[in-house]
Amino acid sequence: MRRCIKCKGEPAIDLKSNNTAFCKEHFIEYFLRQVSRAIKKYNMFSSDERILVAVSGGKDSMALWDALLSLGYNADGLHVDLGIGEYSTGSRRICENFAASRGARLYILSLEDMYGTNMREIVRRTRRVSCSVCGTVKRYLMNLVVQQKGYRVVATGHNLDDETAALLGNLFGWQEGYLARQYPHLPSTHARLPAKVKPLVRLGELETETYCRLKGIDFLADDCPLARGATSLAYKELINSLEEKMPGTKQRFLFGFWDRGRRNFTDTPVELKECSLCGQPTTAGTCLFCRLMQKAGLDPLIQPQVQEM
Ligand code: SF4
Ligand code: ZN
Ligand code: ZN
Repeated sequence: MRRCIKCKGEPAIDLKSNNTAFCKEHFIEYFLRQVSRAIKKYNMFSSDERILVAVSGGKDSMALWDALLSLGYNADGLHVDLGIGEYSTGSRRICENFAASRGARLYILSLEDMYGTNMREIVRRTRRVSCSVCGTVKRYLMNLVVQQKGYRVVATGHNLDDETAALLGNLFGWQEGYLARQYPHLPSTHARLPAKVKPLVRLGELETETYCRLKGIDFLADDCPLARGATSLAYKELINSLEEKMPGTKQRFLFGFWDRGRRNFTDTPVELKECSLCGQPTTAGTCLFCRLMQKAGLDPLIQPQVQEM
């Protein structure tokens, strides 16, 4: 392995895509610089904005939360406890320990506490794809916390690998609307909805994992037991094999799309109405969350009990 490009010290990571290597200290500096660059380039938020970080306990969201705090941002965490056995207890513990160790604010929403059930059961009762049900529920609950606590920006840990896989999938299916909406900063489309940002888009999985390891940040390495990520995994494998042969492919593909390709796709703006049941913004008469909860025999109007620590 080559030595650190900055100080010629012991390398902690070799980044073939950038044709470079870094020692621990200079990799951490590099990682934070990439996060800063993404925040500035895509005009994500200002230094005095309060940011809500969606944290799962996995390497990406934990690295993101740590990086934003290290850069001096006002970043609070939100964790949804899905109630799926050891996976959920482990994820929650990691988020709680991190918040305690960094003196950061963490909000927790527990499905068991609010609805007396868990995500596995909700998926079973709705007979839909797990990640789509789970994503809808988490997004909805997050929006309620955003409104209750007065945030305007939500940050998620999507990284370079996630985004290139999503781009390839959207291109293979010619999903024009998704292509138009795939961007690291989506401004708010409604007074009650936050802007959504992805500050890790310049960094891959290897980088987020290395950052956590070098900084001693605990994360849950287990995959979610409900995950059906076969397609995105197949795209990631495909892109990684291209990256192996042609380093830098991911960055060229993704950043080129955002700089030049995306403008060719348009998304028809849809008017947001109020859900007939809960009053939240939706494109349908009754929002998807309310319909899913009703299908699962649960009351969609239960107010979220937000635990704060
Ligand atoms: Fe939810 Fe799917 Fe993520 Fe598991 S992998 S937490 S089911 S969105
Ligand atoms: Zn160095
Ligand atoms: Zn609703």
